[in-house]
Amino acid sequence: MRVRTLLAVLLLYCASAAAQPRVVPLHTATGTTYISGFQELHHVYVSIGEVAHALGLSTFVLKATDKLSVYSDYGSLLFTPSNGFVVVSLRGETNAVQMPIPVLEANGKLYVPAEFSGELFSKIAQGTLSYDEEKSEFTFSPEQESLPKITGIQVEPKVNGAVIEIGMQSLPKAYEASLTSSGLGGSPDMLYLTLMPAAADVPALDSLPGTSVYSSVIAIQNPKSVQLSFRLKQKFASKHVFVDSTTNSVIIALYSSENVQKLLSEEIRQKLDNEKKNWKLNVIVLDPGHGGKDPGTTGMYGIEEKNVALAIGLDLRRDLHKALPKVKIVMTRDKDVFIPLYKRGEIANEAGGKLFISIHCNSMPTKPNPMHGVETFFLRPGKTAEAIRIAAQENAAIKYENNYEKTYRSYDADNLILTTMAHSAYVKYSERLAELIETNVSRVAHERDNGVGQAGFYVLIGASMPAVLVETGYLSNPREARFLGSVRGQHLVARGICDAIVKYKAEYEKNFTQN
Ligand SMILES: [Zn+2]
Repeated sequence: MRVRTLLAVLLLYCASAAAQPRVVPLHTATGTTYISGFQELHHVYVSIGEVAHALGLSTFVLKATDKLSVYSDYGSLLFTPSNGFVVVSLRGETNAVQMPIPVLEANGKLYVPAEFSGELFSKIAQGTLSYDEEKSEFTFSPEQESLPKITGIQVEPKVNGAVIEIGMQSLPKAYEASLTSSGLGGSPDMLYLTLMPAAADVPALDSLPGTSVYSSVIAIQNPKSVQLSFRLKQKFASKHVFVDSTTNSVIIALYSSENVQKLLSEEIRQKLDNEKKNWKLNVIVLDPGHGGKDPGTTGMYGIEEKNVALAIGLDLRRDLHKALPKVKIVMTRDKDVFIPLYKRGEIANEAGGKLFISIHCNSMPTKPNPMHGVETFFLRPGKTAEAIRIAAQENAAIKYENNYEKTYRSYDADNLILTTMAHSAYVKYSERLAELIETNVSRVAHERDNGVGQAGFYVLIGASMPAVLVETGYLSNPREARFLGSVRGQHLVARGICDAIVKYKAEYEKNFTQN
């Protein structure tokens, strides 16, 4: 990324002798992005595409006219080269805004005067962009995130308890419920429920009529959360809280007897069963790295990574069929073809994969090289220099893809961190799987255990499931190249990964059936 930006600035400098290259910082809540641009006379121009990207806006180039559209859920801005008019579409209305100086085009990119861009981008961004002319820097202040509202409360008495369903605009990130018993004092039993983040129309909730289950509800709005207190009409022995993502509701099942298992209402049992089906580790996706026009690394004796990865992948599929006959095994490729990295994640998601294993071989920049051993990675932005080096090498495969800049735009530095956070639910599982693969492969294949690492691999980002990438050894090392290039070596590595998956599956399923 860095190199490309510098290059663009240099080219720009050569293209226009009067223009001075400039880099304009754009500060957001999550960090600073450096926008490339230039200064001509008294005006600082910035790359429209880069500002849009930094603000999380989408862009689209109209091929015939070179016009650039920047858009969001709110509306769009249409910039025209050498033209001061910007067409603004907002809430169904279209207007033209005129800037006193035009948009400029240089080496295929459009640049807008920074002093006018803040107001324009603020129209469609989720916040306000301001430009400080003296310091020559942007600051973006995001809109206050709106809290999901409680849309309603429904109660259903059941033979052996009751179900309370809280409808929400979107599911809260966290919830907590407690039941208090009155003992002998005569005060009623209470059910307390805290939802976060959430917003409530307090007067409306407080004035809800009583039901056969509770006599009243009291709502308290905290800065980010809502607490609901239900004054119960009868005693309940226990409760179970869960969410239904199809209806965006939080469901509290109240049981009148301790004998919960027997008394689970048929509906709730159904819902839980459906959820459990989703947890079942029933589809495993194997992703032999590279392929087709992308050979991966070429090691000693001309051994190509793509062939080793495919051979191990095919062996592993056969081993897994034997070891886990009920599990469906999906491969992102089972022959020597090129599959873009983003496509691999898509294949995995479409197949309903519960595990994603990307198979690769390592190498050092110079060969022969003594460096050897197995390394396994799970997704997180690169930590060590070594993890970053390996990630850079594997990510380089995108250069074989058409339009890769567009496809992976959202995957660089700042965004990578955000995407990774979405993955955090899987991090724990990915890490455990990575550990198991690392130990089992190094043991079975008699290779050195170089440990588990965290790195930002594009191929791991796309898959919405625990995902790991295993570097099965170094093709730049003569001994390991011979081993990985051999049928026996490939069998052994596959067996190591298979053993790891079998162990992982047992641990994983034990975890979920206990709850
Ligand atoms: Zn690779």
